[in-house]
Amino acid sequence: MQEIKIELTKTPKQKPQDQSKLGFGKIFTDHMYIMPYNKEHGWHDPKIVPYQPITLEPSAMVFHYGQEMFEGLKAYKTEDGRVLLFRPDKNIARANHSNDRLCIPEIPADDFLNALKTLVKVDKDWIPTQPGTSLYIRPFVIATDPFLGVRPSDTYLFIIILSPSGAYYESGLDPVKIWIEDDYVRAVRGGIGEAKTGGNYVASLAAQVKAHDEGYSQVLWLDGVERKYIEEVGAMNIFFKINGKVVTPMLNGSILPGVTRASCIDLCKHWGMEVEERRISVDELVEAAKSGALEECWGSGTAAVISPVGALRYEDTVMEIGGGGIGPVSQKLYDTVTGLQTGKVEDTFGWTVEVDG
Ligand SMILES: *Cc1c(COP(=O)(O)O)cnc(C)c1O
Repeated sequence: MQEIKIELTKTPKQKPQDQSKLGFGKIFTDHMYIMPYNKEHGWHDPKIVPYQPITLEPSAMVFHYGQEMFEGLKAYKTEDGRVLLFRPDKNIARANHSNDRLCIPEIPADDFLNALKTLVKVDKDWIPTQPGTSLYIRPFVIATDPFLGVRPSDTYLFIIILSPSGAYYESGLDPVKIWIEDDYVRAVRGGIGEAKTGGNYVASLAAQVKAHDEGYSQVLWLDGVERKYIEEVGAMNIFFKINGKVVTPMLNGSILPGVTRASCIDLCKHWGMEVEERRISVDELVEAAKSGALEECWGSGTAAVISPVGALRYEDTVMEIGGGGIGPVSQKLYDTVTGLQTGKVEDTFGWTVEVDG
């Protein structure tokens, strides 16, 4: 494992005073991690430096062909002052899976974990403590060759920045309304849907704008080939409870394999519920809603953890779920996952990793 050189800031910023106004992704801490890659030295010379702008050539490949990977996870402070990461090994494995798909060189897992732990430790006083708040961690890699030809870059930067973020729900869980998109698609099998990369997000913006204009907060994507099978929400995976069973789309190459998704599946199975990972057609969903078999629906992702869905709209059909309220499985998953993350629920799964000191 490579040693990280640390240069502390001489001008620490004022930390946010009012934790109820943090929002998401607007404030950044005092430091960042940065590690370059080149052919000669591989990933080398990792540093933690004061948070600052980076300088790139306008010809840097990331600007033109989108060769970039990102991740998202959170650090939490427990009541007794410990700092926990939630399943960072899963994010690291997924990052390298994305890297592989995007022709970005693999980042050694031990260097990656050491980077997360060391940076969070340096900026641990930035971790907010009010219920629902956390320190959002954004690792990413960009291609930096100054070159306009199309090929994988020979040089990269791996950077990690930290952002204190507020409670996603200000007053408890709040059901969202979701638009099932039947025109635009996000990803196709064989494409990059399975990788966490900016390209998938830019592909999603037009539908998101449309859904917002119609009064819906998020888009639920159908498969990119037949536009028939449920895939996932903008930045969340999706779950249904149909006739007592928990059902979620199987990973098929165009769905992002969420860490929160995996945790929901593991917990529901642990509680003795039947969980099916399979194809779900939008027609099956409409039928289940009509017959009353669709008991619950929720999204899962790092930002919101669990997002209960109160209504789904497909073409001219608006399906209200569970009277628009919060279902019991959604609530139990939210309480358990956030309880584990913040050390309130004892971690018998070995999912949390303590940042020491
Ligand atoms: C990050 C992401 C998710 C959720 O993954 P988590 O690991 O649970 O945060 C789901 N879908 C997409 C498209 C994503 O980018």
